[in-house]
Amino acid sequence: MKRTTGQDRSITRNWRPATQAVRAGTWRSEMGETSEAIFATSGYTYEDAATPAARFAGEQDGMTYSRLQNPTVQMLEERIAVLEGAEACRTQASGMAAMTAALLCQLSAGDHIVAARAAFGSCRWLVDSLLPRFGIEGTVIDSTDNAAWEAAIRPNTRVFFFETPANPTLDIVDLEYVCGLAKAHGITTVVDNAFCTPIMQRPMDFGADVVAYSATKLMDGQGRVLAGAVCGSEEFIQDKLLPFQRNTGPNLSPFNAWVVLKGLETLHLRARQQCDNALKLGRFLEDRVPTILHPGLERHPQHALAMKQMTMPGCIFSIVLDGGREQAHAFLDALELIDLSNNIGDARSLMCHPASTTHHSVGPEARAEMGVSEGMLRLNVGLEDADDLIEDLARGLAAAGL
Ligand SMILES: *Cc1c(COP(=O)(O)O)cnc(C)c1O
Repeated sequence: MKRTTGQDRSITRNWRPATQAVRAGTWRSEMGETSEAIFATSGYTYEDAATPAARFAGEQDGMTYSRLQNPTVQMLEERIAVLEGAEACRTQASGMAAMTAALLCQLSAGDHIVAARAAFGSCRWLVDSLLPRFGIEGTVIDSTDNAAWEAAIRPNTRVFFFETPANPTLDIVDLEYVCGLAKAHGITTVVDNAFCTPIMQRPMDFGADVVAYSATKLMDGQGRVLAGAVCGSEEFIQDKLLPFQRNTGPNLSPFNAWVVLKGLETLHLRARQQCDNALKLGRFLEDRVPTILHPGLERHPQHALAMKQMTMPGCIFSIVLDGGREQAHAFLDALELIDLSNNIGDARSLMCHPASTTHHSVGPEARAEMGVSEGMLRLNVGLEDADDLIEDLARGLAAAGL
């Protein structure tokens, strides 16, 4: 394998994000391929017996087994780390594998976690259902309320866990305040940055310790594979995450890593265009629906904070209709272009009814508490022409009687 400039951190960290997204992390084999190679192998062979001995002893870099390292996967991990401004990154088979690993690798029975009440359904399930089974108590709070974070801290609080913007309520967490508060109390912040990717928001610039991803979303960006990533300090990745990941095996496949590498090459362009489209659609809808939750619109209660933390307003937003599930479903059933799908980050525009899909499993009580009402619809805005999308939304509005 030949090093390229993409492997040299002293060079790649000074590149601008668009360059990093195309080139950071690239190795080349003796074939000189332009596009990264897919190393579809589980194991590796050695020239002599001393080589694996040195690698297993940690005295020599090199591959030993694909649950521990794989060249294609490592290229992706280096690229994400550089984009994030993180010392290190490891990838997982899905976003939920990443969230689970980021939490379980550092929490033990008797610990306490404070988490945002508005969150992706499975993230709430981890806090509400999984962690308590292992003696890890959770307190769920309104993440937009800075005082609530402080009030929830206990002597045994180890982790703050949240998304910003949150799925699907678009709640914004004050990163600088909450990460600073955590630091002052020796608490580790774990930020789920799936809605933004490092192109739009780098939580570590505001003091976050660990940034975790569903790379299934904007990083792949074309709805093809599941993938996840955890970024942190070298110490966190080496001492906390790797012992957990290497022995439990939530690894990303080389093929899926390669798909995400290809996705990252266009991340910058896609994010910019999808955010522009989302703002146009938001402006079309804002006076036509009772409530719109879009961080890029001045009427979002945390617009100023969102624009301080995010370089672009995001391509996902929600609207809330007054007529409950019936009116929301009528809106969806009238769409001809926008697909009914609960995925996000895709180049195709997708719309879903969170209460009956992504947030069905958290139950009506948790939905009410986090503000996921029966009239809420979430929209992922893709790369189609915004005017075609607006014509489709007009069909939905008409069917909903708006
Ligand atoms: C999709 C999503 C996840 C889960 O990711 P998967 O890749 O589907 O496992 C976690 N958090 C947020 C905010 C998400 O949108």
